[in-house]
Amino acid sequence: MKQPTAISVAPLVRVSALLASLSTLLLASVKTFGFELDGTKWFLAQAEYHVDMEGMSATQISWNTAFIEAIEEWNANTVFEFSVVNNNADPCLDNGISSVDFSEDFCGSSFGNNVLAVTVRRFDPQILGPPYIREADIIVNAEEEFDIFDGPLVQFGQNFAGLDFGRVALHELGHVIGLDHEETNNAIMAPNISNLFSLQQDDINGVQALHNGLSNCEIDPLTFGEISEVLNGNDCTVKDLTVGGNDNSFLDLYQFDLDETTQLDFFATSTILDPVLILATTDLQYLDVDIASNDDCDSSLSANLPAGSYFLIVNTFDSPIKEDCGIVGNYRLRTSFTSSSEPSLGSGTSLANAFTTAQFTGGITADNGATYSNQFSPTDSLDISAQIRVDIRHRGAPGFLVVAALLEGQVLMLNADGEFVDVTANPLPAVPFATKTLETFESITIATDLVPADLGIQDIDASIVVGYGLDSNPSEIYYHSTPLSLSVVPDSGAGD
Ligand SMILES: [Zn+2]
Repeated sequence: MKQPTAISVAPLVRVSALLASLSTLLLASVKTFGFELDGTKWFLAQAEYHVDMEGMSATQISWNTAFIEAIEEWNANTVFEFSVVNNNADPCLDNGISSVDFSEDFCGSSFGNNVLAVTVRRFDPQILGPPYIREADIIVNAEEEFDIFDGPLVQFGQNFAGLDFGRVALHELGHVIGLDHEETNNAIMAPNISNLFSLQQDDINGVQALHNGLSNCEIDPLTFGEISEVLNGNDCTVKDLTVGGNDNSFLDLYQFDLDETTQLDFFATSTILDPVLILATTDLQYLDVDIASNDDCDSSLSANLPAGSYFLIVNTFDSPIKEDCGIVGNYRLRTSFTSSSEPSLGSGTSLANAFTTAQFTGGITADNGATYSNQFSPTDSLDISAQIRVDIRHRGAPGFLVVAALLEGQVLMLNADGEFVDVTANPLPAVPFATKTLETFESITIATDLVPADLGIQDIDASIVVGYGLDSNPSEIYYHSTPLSLSVVPDSGAGD
């Protein structure tokens, strides 16, 4: 996050003009890609464009044909995807419609000397990073002479009626996408029109970089319950993630997937770091932000989210805003959820990392299945159960079911008598919960009416994993990638 006191309001309108110039461009001697990006881009790298201009060039090609060919060149060579609507709309209007047209003037103002065309971009500010572009219009200077042709601007023995409109369209569409001028390399995005008439590697790499921010950051699966992590110089920054802007604050990126509408509560605590919690979809639509309380470093965020894939982003500020809370350091993140059915426990895996189609669900309920959660109070009465859809290759085979609980360095396994035994020293061979012929669906009741306080438990974080194995290979256990998380928190108020 940028410091709230110094929030830079993104300019709502930015104007880029292509200049007519026949001066020779210097060729860069070193082959580096120096595309200019300020990070403004379209959400999902796609835009609808309205195209319906009158007239055609002296070479008998309509302006529309040349413009749509330019759109198709960007589409074919980059991740960006324009869709064309055959419709004439006024490019000077701020109406949510991106369009192109010729005009004698620049929306009531003068175009200025040698200006061939102007792109006007309008923005929606975002919680993180540069704004998204919501509209980008192109106004072509009708006072300039245009034709449509490939190759050098001046060609021996050819008398064109003006400058090539096609490369002007390519250049302005680069601004529409979010590219700025490229001053040093061969590029359609050079500030002046040149003999280049098709997209150059620099232009293509610019679009790629603009939309590749997620690859700059490590993404970890979100663990329900409590985790301890650190924000520091090893982490990626807002600038890395959003590609552009000048927000160099660090962030951790946690991904989670929801199968159904779920209530989520995130709570970040630290004695030295000032955490900022941000929710986003995995395509970086920012949903909500919490910038911490006034009197301590902590931060919390609650949301009711529909099924989908999401990021929880633990961020901080790019310069400290509180005396006692900094911008690097350890934090603890507690995540709890409430859903109306048992959550999925991720894809199946095995101790030997074998591929398996086995599927697992499981949940903990304090209200006999009305809701499921991972966080409870010591006096709640808990039912814990899990279901296995056995890999089709293992059905009908003699095997066994296992239940393991992991807590603070201890490994416990549930035996056939329903008692947890400590197997930390020798976890294998696994203690079986049941020995049986494996069926398509196996249901495991781990606990019924378990009251943590009755066992002297007031505060605990445990992970529960269920699985199965085959008698033919008892050291290979099939289980789930996401543990069933159980947190007992004193007076949490959760699980009621
Ligand atoms: Zn330009």
